Amino acid sequence: MEKVKAKKEFGQNFLKDSSILDKIIQSMPQNNNHIVEIGPGLGDLTKNLVKYKDVTAYEVDTDLIGILKSKFATEIENRRFDLKHIDVLRAWDELKSLHSMKYDLIANLPYYIATNIILRAFEDELCEHIIVMVQKEVAEKFSAKVNDKEYSSLGIITETISKESKILFDVPPTAFDPMPKVTSSILYIKKDLDKKVDKDFNRFLKACFVQPRKKLSKNLSSILDKSEILSLYNELGLNDNLRPHEVSSSLYSQMHTKVKNGRD
Ligand code: SAM
Repeated sequence: MEKVKAKKEFGQNFLKDSSILDKIIQSMPQNNNHIVEIGPGLGDLTKNLVKYKDVTAYEVDTDLIGILKSKFATEIENRRFDLKHIDVLRAWDELKSLHSMKYDLIANLPYYIATNIILRAFEDELCEHIIVMVQKEVAEKFSAKVNDKEYSSLGIITETISKESKILFDVPPTAFDPMPKVTSSILYIKKDLDKKVDKDFNRFLKACFVQPRKKLSKNLSSILDKSEILSLYNELGLNDNLRPHEVSSSLYSQMHTKVKNGRD
């Protein structure tokens, strides 16, 4: 490894296992989309990505920017690689999208902001595929299906805005330097670009899952009164014993529509 001390505060665990890097590249969608990478680090994944596609990368760490500039001098010069020195969340605050045309997000994400980044990518209308390394538990939440114990608002939001979501494979701590304490997974999401994130629906889901192991009807009592819950359950033919993770995303959408119409 280059003489760089990994910075914990930036979630730096550099991926060193070339067989894992190869598997990520093999999972890259066959399309003409641009690639956006968040946190190129020492450039090991970037080096593989730029062989196939043009890449724009967002890196916050000043020390790494110098290393990346010299490593990718040729690619920067011939415009295959565009390196942005900025906190990616700030970039998203300032820009509507991380790129000016359709792109796929491929990255080994900094884990301290991974969920936030994926949710921002959902809102970014030009982002089509998300192929990211995250903590295994986070990947399980985003790819969970109804009745899985990990099924929560994250899995439901994912289902409502995507065509496909799954874990491609797990990655052990030994694949990184320094080694993280947790197992990681590669999460794959193909968004449905016709679908938009509905913030009011997300707020509704938060209320539904406020106490995930309690009955859904109990959680709903924080936003609806008893008679509203009763008529909602009657109209949709729901059983009062249902727990939040036992209700499908399409039923949640129907519930939300009825609640919203009731409010208007
Ligand atoms: N891609 C490299 C690899 O696979 O070895 C590094 C991955 S490391 C897990 C996460 C990277 O994200 C680091 O390079 C870190 O400096 C960068 N990073 C952390 N927070 C960031 C932020 N807010 N915006 C942009 N990059 C960030």
